[in-house]
Amino acid sequence: MKVKKGLVGAIGDTPLIRIESLSEETGCNILGKAEFMNPGGSVKDRAALWMIREAEKAGDLKPGGTVVEGTAGNTGIGILHVCNSRGYDAVIYMPDNQSQEKVDILKTLGAEVRVVPTVPYKDEMNYQKQAGRYAETLENAIWANQFDNTANRLAHYESTGPEIWDQTDGRVDAFTCSVGTGGTLAGVSRYLKEQSQDVQIVLADPHGSALYNWVTTGEAEMTPGPSITEGIGNSRVTDNLAGTEIDDAVQIDDQAMVDMVYTMLRKDGWFFGSSTGINLCGAVALAKKLGPGHNIVTMLCDDGSKYMSRLFNPRFLEEKGLRA
Ligand code: PMP
Repeated sequence: MKVKKGLVGAIGDTPLIRIESLSEETGCNILGKAEFMNPGGSVKDRAALWMIREAEKAGDLKPGGTVVEGTAGNTGIGILHVCNSRGYDAVIYMPDNQSQEKVDILKTLGAEVRVVPTVPYKDEMNYQKQAGRYAETLENAIWANQFDNTANRLAHYESTGPEIWDQTDGRVDAFTCSVGTGGTLAGVSRYLKEQSQDVQIVLADPHGSALYNWVTTGEAEMTPGPSITEGIGNSRVTDNLAGTEIDDAVQIDDQAMVDMVYTMLRKDGWFFGSSTGINLCGAVALAKKLGPGHNIVTMLCDDGSKYMSRLFNPRFLEEKGLRA
């Protein structure tokens, strides 16, 4: 029987889907990894599983243990799914600028959620640093530390990268995606570049992030923002991202992202979140640069249901000067 074994067995091995309108428009195959089909609904299930599995292998997490993480969204949801399936507790630290929906989802999944004041990363009271300190006070507990724990990147090196290579029969010309922790881009880039140095790797960055400058000038200097995108962009180069071979970067503005997600909804029938909008804009920009006849792969990170009060709320868009 062709069955997947339990929740963990259902993580990854996602379909690679041709986006019809964009492929016809560009003459390239614009191909998206359907990460919204993971059990927790996003690309971050892979990172959650690998961080937990590597901690188990190292003996840092034993039966009945606790996973602590600072996260505002998908990583927490992924961690809760994996923890519930393996009998672990989870404590999630979140900054207080996040929507109530996200707190509610994590609580429903069984997390102890600690909402703390929003302060910059360099501040000792930053939610990620609080998560790290709290984990140290517990027996049999880990701080998942998605930004600098390279088990996150390993997930994509061992799963997403090989899947893309297999699904394209090795005929992938370019890969592009946006970066939050950098786990996805770094792991996929490492794997694909090992198969062929000709595969182009392009980072797609929203405004209000330092990574476009980092790739194009070598200096991680912030660009003017903000952006309404969630889960992507970064002010620093994480341990996951460091040392990654990246050929180029593109910067995508919020109006282009909004146009993309609404085109997907109205024309192709897909309901995608904001990072997927940035990724698809990056893929189209890359297709225009490379010319027709190329296979360009990107990530369909999550669906639109978590963005109802922002990206899919006409009043919110209007307040931000954006048009749907
Ligand atoms: N898209 C969404 C919706 C996310 O939640 C994240 C992770 N924060 C990303 C993209 C970025 O992925 P990564 O952390 O692997 O760079």
